Amino acid sequence: MLSNTNYTTEILDLQGAIVKNIETAASKLTVHVEMPVKEHICPACGCKTSRVHDYRVRHIKDLSVAGRSLTLAYRRRRYRCTGCGKCFAEKNSFVARRRQMTLRFTSKIIESLSNERSFSSVARDKGVSVSSVIRIFDAVEMPHPTGLPEVFTIDEFKGNTGAQKYQCILTDPAHGRVLDILPDRRNSHLIEYLRGYDKEKRDKVKFFVSDMWRPYADMAGIYFKNAVQIVDKYHFVRQCVWAFEAVRKREQKRLGKKYRKLLKHSKRLLTKRGTKLTKDEREFVEAMLYLSHELRQAYHLKEKFYEVLDAKEPEMSAKLMSAWILEAQNSGLIEYENCGNTFIAWGKGILNSFKYGYTNGFTEGCNNKIKVLKRNAYGYRNFRRFRNRILFMFYLRDSGQNVA
Ligand SMILES: [Zn+2]
Repeated sequence: MLSNTNYTTEILDLQGAIVKNIETAASKLTVHVEMPVKEHICPACGCKTSRVHDYRVRHIKDLSVAGRSLTLAYRRRRYRCTGCGKCFAEKNSFVARRRQMTLRFTSKIIESLSNERSFSSVARDKGVSVSSVIRIFDAVEMPHPTGLPEVFTIDEFKGNTGAQKYQCILTDPAHGRVLDILPDRRNSHLIEYLRGYDKEKRDKVKFFVSDMWRPYADMAGIYFKNAVQIVDKYHFVRQCVWAFEAVRKREQKRLGKKYRKLLKHSKRLLTKRGTKLTKDEREFVEAMLYLSHELRQAYHLKEKFYEVLDAKEPEMSAKLMSAWILEAQNSGLIEYENCGNTFIAWGKGILNSFKYGYTNGFTEGCNNKIKVLKRNAYGYRNFRRFRNRILFMFYLRDSGQNVA
């Protein structure tokens, strides 16, 4: 009988506890455990004692075993100090004070939160309340990185957390790491954050990638003296896409009812790259362009921009880009004039993008995962919790510990 209980203790891995009895039901296991009597040191006065004061049975939720939920009926002992008379609870290694679940059950819950799942989904799965899951997770505090990487990117995503619409994400794309999440993109906040790193650490940043939000560039100029500023490719290409869309919509509206049917599928074909059109599609596109001079011009600029992007050498990209800007500014299309002006204002960063090839592509992928995390939870109002969930999700992925 003794060897049998020892065996059970071993399987349950309840370090040092004695299994007294096991009750089994269809979907439920209750294991009665207690700790052996042992000399304890009084927390109040430091005297040694092994005098038992009383017992109280506590029901503690544990990891399920072979599909059955497991509860420990822990007969917890209190000792009385023979020196000062104080009573105190015995030590054990499986449950923390005032908790109703074992430490390993708690750690399993934390582990379950290492992906985009919501708190309520984990709670349902583990058979505990949502507030318990949140309370357990709130003990997690993801640290700020101690240093700064050679390639540093900043971008924002729509988080709608706290009072702010946009939150910032900082990454190290060279190592596929999410560094931190900031509550908003205001300059004052960014500066306060960067001041947390001394000059020596900031000087390690060699490349700074961002979109065309002026405060980012200003900040980089002050705090990353050694860094080459790069405008993310996706963000400036998007300016061109928007310019074309604006002209297309404007012209579609102007041409009116008569051509509505003809224009119905125009978006897909007009935005498709010219060289990828089939013969029939090309014919259709040409017919469309025949209808509007402005659309024809916009189309030409759209196609020409591909040549800028396709250039193999950065010098060639720079040359083609200058020519493109000149043409855009003289096109008579306000959308492209604006686009050209933006490109001039950010010229250096755009050319650096051709030269060094760093982008926010890694960040885009992260933002998509954050979007799923947010959607599963119907949003996060608490910034601290949101930040910790994001960083925890990427932290486990980065170190390859994620088992989901
Ligand atoms: Zn004492």
